[in-house]
Amino acid sequence: MTARLLDGTKIAGEIRSEVSQTVKSLAASGPPPGLAVVLVGHNPASEIYVRGKVKACQEVGIYSEQHTPPDTATTAELLALIDNLNRRDAIDGILVQLPLPSQVDTKHVLLAVDPAKDVDGFHPVNVGFLSTQRPGLVPCTPAGVIEILQRSQIPIAGQNAVVVGRSDIVGKPAAMLLINANATVTVCHSRTRDLPGVCRQADILVAAIGRAGMITRDFVKPGATVIDVGMNKVTDPAEFVRLFAGNPKREEGFRAKGSTLAGDVDPAVAEVAGALTPVPGGVGPLTIAMLMYNTVKAAKMRRSGKTHAEAMS
Ligand code: NAP
Repeated sequence: MTARLLDGTKIAGEIRSEVSQTVKSLAASGPPPGLAVVLVGHNPASEIYVRGKVKACQEVGIYSEQHTPPDTATTAELLALIDNLNRRDAIDGILVQLPLPSQVDTKHVLLAVDPAKDVDGFHPVNVGFLSTQRPGLVPCTPAGVIEILQRSQIPIAGQNAVVVGRSDIVGKPAAMLLINANATVTVCHSRTRDLPGVCRQADILVAAIGRAGMITRDFVKPGATVIDVGMNKVTDPAEFVRLFAGNPKREEGFRAKGSTLAGDVDPAVAEVAGALTPVPGGVGPLTIAMLMYNTVKAAKMRRSGKTHAEAMS
């Protein structure tokens, strides 16, 4: 069996084009939706992510601005910045790019974001809305996982779903979304006993671990759908060979760059699974598309004149 590859780039393109239509209709009767991105200091990976987000805003017609406090920024300075963004009408969404420098109290800063503008869906108010099944601002990557499943006509209701990973950003909200979509959900983590055995029960297996190729063929029930959230930079030649030996395109890229991007799922899983998201080109593109979606959703919500709680009830 060779798994059907679930094309995240194509699905993200569909979502972006729908978002861009909504932006046009909102902009016809007022200012376009606005996103403020806060990027503290110089973290090369964060700078790349932020560039991608700003470019995506331009493509769908969302107004965006970047705030770049220095590495030395304090919690108080960031709280003042967030307070200002919370008050500005032109800003519908606020994204604080993580990680923040070690001297900053990250939880305090994230808690200061107005839940109505919390396009990352990290604020406890939005976490609460998600867990009580109210429509709200949902973390982008897990929301993207559900979009991939739904738009690929993969049934969720009644299916056994196993999520490996319990982070606040990916694992837990992914599990909550799957429960809300009527799957029977098991959440696994580093203390789970017999992880391969638990994973083999899954009709839908979501890997959000951060370990390249950890999910091998023996974790996967034949025909299962496997969603690979992992994004791992592989630089070790032995690890590269374990995962990608015999793949000429990968080998050429690895020789040229000295690294390659790998998911948490061993590519050989494609021989067992029924459907699989590739890395790159699977969940990754959905994350930015859902950020655009959330920004427009936040704009519509604020312009409806309802409070955040009313709009979500
Ligand atoms: P995280 O906060 O480090 O969480 C990793 C989770 O995996 C934890 O719950 C951990 O268990 C579990 N885990 C680690 N080793 C394990 C093992 N050997 N067996 C079972 N469980 C294990 O990571 P994250 O932020 O959720 O991200 C997970 C992956 O997704 C990373 O590769 C990240 O780069 C990627 N990611 C991708 C996107 C995207 O746009 N595609 C977005 C966000 C994240 P414990 O809780 O017990 O420690």
